[in-house]
Amino acid sequence: MAPVLKTEEELRIMREAGRIVAAAHEAMRRAIEPGVTTKALDTIALTVLRDHGAEPCFLGYAPGEHPPFPATITACVNRELVHGIPSEQRVLIDGDIVSVDVACFYKGYVGDAAFTHPVGEISRSARRLMAATEDALAAAIAASVIGNRVSDVAKATSKCAARAGYSVAREYTGHGVGQAMHEEPQVPNWWPGKKSRVRWQDYDLRPGMTYAIEPMLIAGRPDLVELEDGWTVVTKDGSLTAHYEHTVAITEDGPLILTLP
Ligand code: MG
Repeated sequence: MAPVLKTEEELRIMREAGRIVAAAHEAMRRAIEPGVTTKALDTIALTVLRDHGAEPCFLGYAPGEHPPFPATITACVNRELVHGIPSEQRVLIDGDIVSVDVACFYKGYVGDAAFTHPVGEISRSARRLMAATEDALAAAIAASVIGNRVSDVAKATSKCAARAGYSVAREYTGHGVGQAMHEEPQVPNWWPGKKSRVRWQDYDLRPGMTYAIEPMLIAGRPDLVELEDGWTVVTKDGSLTAHYEHTVAITEDGPLILTLP
């Protein structure tokens, strides 16, 4: 199915949804410090969403074989790449980096964004990984212009990661966002060569296309393992990961970031 192109009115609502996600991010950023649990961050996000009349997308989400996701945010610490389940037992400690992803439904539309944040004093290598991941997101957003294709966005991400000496998560991609949390197109963080068995559908970028770009960079090897909780994905070699995400609209005037404050 081709990507759904949104009207200006739809983009206006999606911008509101994105602002609510940004408000949840801001509240969590203020709370992150050693001693805080990932469950506490989850409660903060849910409160902000509901205060704004929005509902969490992840809560109860159960694609394929997965058990229903039990929380508003995904919270991933250090080697955890995606889909970390918030927990009262998971206490953030000095030197951790934590990646938080939030998506909400608002007036029938979705906003989706993620960020990585330091807990107390972090290592120089962790800081460098975070900066490179933010750079990769910025490069992918800059490539989100008419005349380009989805593959150009994917290549912008992987080029940035490679230049900094990092791997990208190959199995997890950004995605179209609209009335559903996952629409066409998939927006990968790399683009396979002609001989690869992996195939993504490529599209010309057109005004009204909306998608979430979410580079996940890995300091070590890109091999991943899913934990027994049925959700949390970690790096096999234990290396650090970072994850940044914005929902973006393609417009005649260039990319419009929908999930800024
Ligand atoms: Mg997300």
